[in-house]
Amino acid sequence: MAKTKVERVGGETETSDADFIIDRPKFSEGTWVSATKDFTYDSQKVGHLRWGQILQLRGYRNDAGLVDHRLLIVMEPQPKSEAVVDKHFPKCGECGRNFINEQQRDRCGELHEMTAEERKMKRRELAHETVKEHAYGGEMPTQVIGE
Ligand SMILES: [Zn+2]
Repeated sequence: MAKTKVERVGGETETSDADFIIDRPKFSEGTWVSATKDFTYDSQKVGHLRWGQILQLRGYRNDAGLVDHRLLIVMEPQPKSEAVVDKHFPKCGECGRNFINEQQRDRCGELHEMTAEERKMKRRELAHETVKEHAYGGEMPTQVIGE
């Protein structure tokens, strides 16, 4: 499989797969992460995150803390672009959010159909099954990496 030179966050070039970056530094602005529960990350710009939602860190001071507490999990390897995320991960047809897996995407779809009160109940359910149910490692499309 063809290897390509890619831009690294620090400005260096690195050999990597065409769609993913293997060793991007963590906790920088633009680092791709996924949410392990529903919570508000950046109320002005990102808004309320949903379980499994894929997003990019915005470079805030508490980014590392959110990762340490596993509210956000750094995606490894890192997708190179939004187009790569769209290509490899399920997307909610209603709001356009991308998710790590289809269960999370389907849940987003269900939340759109609910009243505010029903959504609150649904989120309470999730509180008991967050982090342990959210393994990211094995879920990646590994066939495109390291071939
Ligand atoms: Zn949605």
